Amino acid sequence: MLRVGIGHDTHRLAPGRTLRLGGVIVPHDAGLLGHSDADVLLHALIDALLGAAGLGDIGEWFPDTDPANLGRDSAEMLAVVLARLAADGWRVVNADCIVFAQQPRLGPYKETIRSRLAALLDLPPNCVNVKAKTGEHVGPIGRGEAMAAQAVVLLESPNPNC
Ligand code: MG
Repeated sequence: MLRVGIGHDTHRLAPGRTLRLGGVIVPHDAGLLGHSDADVLLHALIDALLGAAGLGDIGEWFPDTDPANLGRDSAEMLAVVLARLAADGWRVVNADCIVFAQQPRLGPYKETIRSRLAALLDLPPNCVNVKAKTGEHVGPIGRGEAMAAQAVVLLESPNPNC
């Protein structure tokens, strides 16, 4: 059995925050604002995984009204979701991701982020892909007000009745 899932997320940029993308700290003069660590890429990835498994969305799993999620490491949230998927018999086949950011240019960080995501997903690096796009200087991303991310994942299970 194969299942595909899609995830999307947006976070506002704010000065004085640490910028985390895919579990990697990226040096920048602003970071993403959110209840958790606001790792927009991990949030998109988590939603893609939950979607593929038919398990709802990140807001249901980790509500931003729950103090336990305040400042929470999104890599730890991902681990919670991966544990549930494994318990349900799912294996991640691959993940493809896009980060939308005007600044900083993410080219120099793509391989580091790919390696980190692969480690978090327990996959070889060639099963994870990270793409970076600017906002072409238009809209909230192009003006540097926000960043967004999208992710697609494929899951497989030996159980034909998943
Ligand atoms: Mg988010």
